[in-house]
Amino acid sequence: MNTTTIDDIIGMYRTWGEERYDEEVTQVAHALQCAALARTEGAEDHLIAAALLHDIGHLFEIERANGPDHRTDLRHESAGAEFLTQLFPEAVTSPVRLHVSAKRYLTATEPDYRSRLSEGSQRSLRAQGGPMTPEECAQFLAIDGSSDAIRLRRWDDHGKVVGLDVPALETWAPLLQRVSVTAD
Ligand code: FE
Repeated sequence: MNTTTIDDIIGMYRTWGEERYDEEVTQVAHALQCAALARTEGAEDHLIAAALLHDIGHLFEIERANGPDHRTDLRHESAGAEFLTQLFPEAVTSPVRLHVSAKRYLTATEPDYRSRLSEGSQRSLRAQGGPMTPEECAQFLAIDGSSDAIRLRRWDDHGKVVGLDVPALETWAPLLQRVSVTAD
């Protein structure tokens, strides 16, 4: 039986969100900035939810007291997407699952992309398999949700601004409720 609720998810960010995301911002600041960027660009609700929750897998790493260790990435994207299937449809979980693949795709296909990544992202890229081969790129593009994952990835790369004023966590609760599979 599914016992996880939207309130539980909000609570996880309250409990663990003040831990570092990277050199610059906290987990919750990063999540909120990604959601704000998605909204500013007019993304659909499911994709705003994915932007907000895409790194929830890092919270599990923190909970296990490992910290978000980018050198030994514990496949936070899969762990996060798996967890979110309890509450959200594929339209939310696919971009979450694919957001690391999207980085590998973009490093393979956009000449300047890699050099514009933060230090932490460049470091984790190696642990995540590095740039995709042309075959991997073609396979990636054929997956449902890959284009949303690429959009999410760009917000992910920019949601690292120190001290940016963005809407608070609680303001996203109604949207999360709306897109969740338990919504009426
Ligand atoms: Fe991220």
